[in-house]
Amino acid sequence: MTTTSHALDVERIRADFPILSTVLHAAPKRPGVQLAYLDNAATTQRPQQVIQAIVDTYEKHYANVHRGIHWLSDQSTDLYEDARGKVQSLIGAPTREEVIFTHGTTESINLVARSWGDANLKPTDEILLTEMEHHSNIVPWQQAAARTGAIVRFLPITDDGQLALGALDQFLTPRTRIVAVAAIPNVLGTINPLSEIIVRAHQAGALVLVDAAQSVPHQHTDVQALGADFLVFSGHKMLGPSGVGVLFGRRELLEAMPPFLGGGSMIRRVTTALFEPAELPAKFEAGTPPIVSAIGLGAAIDYLQQLGMDAIQAHERLLCTRAHEVLSSVGGLKFLGPTPERKSGIVSFTLDRVHAHDVAQLLDRQGIAVRAGHHCAMPLHKRLGINASTRASFYFYNTLDEVERLGTALDEIKRIFRRK
Ligand code: PMP
Repeated sequence: MTTTSHALDVERIRADFPILSTVLHAAPKRPGVQLAYLDNAATTQRPQQVIQAIVDTYEKHYANVHRGIHWLSDQSTDLYEDARGKVQSLIGAPTREEVIFTHGTTESINLVARSWGDANLKPTDEILLTEMEHHSNIVPWQQAAARTGAIVRFLPITDDGQLALGALDQFLTPRTRIVAVAAIPNVLGTINPLSEIIVRAHQAGALVLVDAAQSVPHQHTDVQALGADFLVFSGHKMLGPSGVGVLFGRRELLEAMPPFLGGGSMIRRVTTALFEPAELPAKFEAGTPPIVSAIGLGAAIDYLQQLGMDAIQAHERLLCTRAHEVLSSVGGLKFLGPTPERKSGIVSFTLDRVHAHDVAQLLDRQGIAVRAGHHCAMPLHKRLGINASTRASFYFYNTLDEVERLGTALDEIKRIFRRK
């Protein structure tokens, strides 16, 4: 069965992704199995257009950026800055200078926790996180709390994996300085009601950092409509190369923050006694930035925008809904998180009496790539009373056929374990 949803011709799209035609586990008398890549929340694959943009840059345009008084450096700088403009337009940032290239979501959050956090947090101030966060949106805040004496609190979740918004008023206190929350958490896939959270946090006088690692790649994003103070994401989860990420921050906040890393490019002037930081965005881009990765991310954004974020989201919803239908007939399978209409293309589950790692290994024998473990969300797993889970996560190039294969393979795994 092929999948052609209203707007996306998935068969044609798949032809752009060389890796998706991989056949694995072939042996002399066995033909091998077709890869079903269902680990997109960990990282996505790249289309030929992104790979070609990287090759072209190295072949024709590569030099260091912002340094050059030579032609090639100007070329490279133009491409790097074009990529910044593409990010700006993708997320609706008011100006390019509010788009900072980092090495990923993790670094972006560390930047804010270190730079904004150290300058603004005082003992007994509160940092509000949620029980569904990735470690990247927990540990930097715990570190900031340890440095400043601030306190980290966690908004609870409901049993079906949604934020307990009823408790928000109790957790937003006059001491709350920042709320750091995932737009879509990486295990539950819940589409969190960000606008409401942001409005209520602002009413309480707190800033909001949105961890958009799992949302920017999958749905339309508008930082101005949202009213986000900071928003962060990674290139590698949206067809781009690894090693590049983004921090969006409101200009007045970024201007008031001290630099995170010191070094070349982030200064206006250095003497033996002191330095003066550069203007935005250079102030937060110390050293040689991820030049080619950022340019590759620009090509990835072109690709996504050509498909349309709404069409991407609609296709993923189709896959997620079908996955819930197919997987609910697998005996002993329990979904984590809400029902499909409340989440993105992430389907995490446990299988009664089968460890998540065994599930993932047996699926791999069928060519199906999923993730198993705690997915960098140990507090979430503890809250749910489990040690590990298995996660299938879709992107727009996945097909209904792959969903059926997942269901059939899980049925088979369940049968194997029942016999044991
Ligand atoms: N937050 C969320 C919600 C994520 O899914 C991830 C990646 N799994 C991260 C943060 C960290 O992203 P990165 O490893 O690219 O820095």
